[in-house]
Amino acid sequence: MNALLRRGVARVGIPCVWRGKRFSSRDEAAESNRGTPMLRHLTYKIKSTGPITVAEYMKEVLTNPAKGYYVHHDMLGEKGDFITSPEISQIFGELLGIWFISEWMASGKSPAFQLVELGPGRGTLTGDILRVFSQLGSVLKACDISIHLVEVSQKLSEIQALTLTEEKLPLERDAESLVYMKGVTKSGLPVSWYRDLKDVPKGCSFYLAHEFFDALPVHKFQKTSQGWREVLVDIDPQVPDKLRFVLAPCATPAEAFIRQHDEGRDHVEVCPDAGIIIQDLSERIALTGGAALIADYGHDGTKADTFRGFRGHQLHDVLIAPGTADLTADVDFSYLRRMAQGKVASLGPVEQRTFLKNMGIDVRLQVLLDKADEPSAKQQLLQGYDMLMNPQKMGERFNFFALLPHQRLHDASQERNACQSKTPASPVAGFDELVWQ
Ligand code: SAH
Repeated sequence: MNALLRRGVARVGIPCVWRGKRFSSRDEAAESNRGTPMLRHLTYKIKSTGPITVAEYMKEVLTNPAKGYYVHHDMLGEKGDFITSPEISQIFGELLGIWFISEWMASGKSPAFQLVELGPGRGTLTGDILRVFSQLGSVLKACDISIHLVEVSQKLSEIQALTLTEEKLPLERDAESLVYMKGVTKSGLPVSWYRDLKDVPKGCSFYLAHEFFDALPVHKFQKTSQGWREVLVDIDPQVPDKLRFVLAPCATPAEAFIRQHDEGRDHVEVCPDAGIIIQDLSERIALTGGAALIADYGHDGTKADTFRGFRGHQLHDVLIAPGTADLTADVDFSYLRRMAQGKVASLGPVEQRTFLKNMGIDVRLQVLLDKADEPSAKQQLLQGYDMLMNPQKMGERFNFFALLPHQRLHDASQERNACQSKTPASPVAGFDELVWQ
């Protein structure tokens, strides 16, 4: 923990932009389309097998094991391409830590649980959550906790290890194994790294995904007079080394993902990988308990064309210099809800400012302001708060969504002891106002 943190001060200077915001695009036509290794790889692929889906394009650009943007970049923070809430203010992770403890208590204080983060970035969020777990050690003392990180990026997994683990204890590495790295956190908990959720052991778990689902590949479709047609990526015949969007001449298999009967929009994006992950999470939670907290920018099945790129905190043309910019699409929470298939209950989406307010962000801010000695530290805390909460900034565009076992929302006591009188389930923090007792 660095000195700034110990004094309860926000960790980084507040940057001017974040990824969920749309900016007026620079004139990128004027920007030369640098022949990146990724562009060469994609043009070769398209020349050999024909135009590719946007989902395949996104997957190659972001997570191709040799050249993918996520695999070898540290894209987060002021010097990177975008900034995320945990990097803006420690309060964000602290309140999420309280959410997990609150859910662990409300669901019957299981003797052990796994904290599983999907796409942990620089490890900052898990670090802040673990600090809260340590501070509330008296509550969690009898509980056996382990940390499980699902991360495709070699570069970021190294940064996560630096953030979270004790330098003196060497990490175990095995690139060939499903668990490619293992270590011990600064607070003494076992931590393991995986490339895929399916490799994380099953067992009572609390899952966290912050700005993870928006990085998963989407298929894009356009309504035409002949019906839905998938948007593909092709090489521009007029300009060498330039990519362009085209429409598939006939129906493609991915069209099955569109809900034909009630789709009023004329452009839709569908993310089958998100559906698979939600199904897996739902089955796990229904089977072994726990919960999933998903936070991202997104919509409830209302938005159309949200696919965009970010480089250096600016909007970036998604087809220019692939591999040098982040690609992202808004999360469709209505699709996530459908993919849970009723196996678990879902809550939300609720706006970030509502969730954090319900979690007690104002109380926590005041405590940190009282502790901060320097005016500049107070200023940073207030700026961080404004960034997270202001409806014009991250307050409304970012949303929280949760998956919980059905019995959590109905009658917690019923499951444990049918003879006891029924007590109503306690409210879910963040989605209801948290009562401080
Ligand atoms: N949660 C972090 C980082 C968000 S960026 C934060 O809020 O600061 C997205 C993260 O997801 C990165 O860590 C990236 O490497 C990871 N990621 C992207 N696609 C992934 C995939 N298919 N599987 C696992 N991790 C992925």
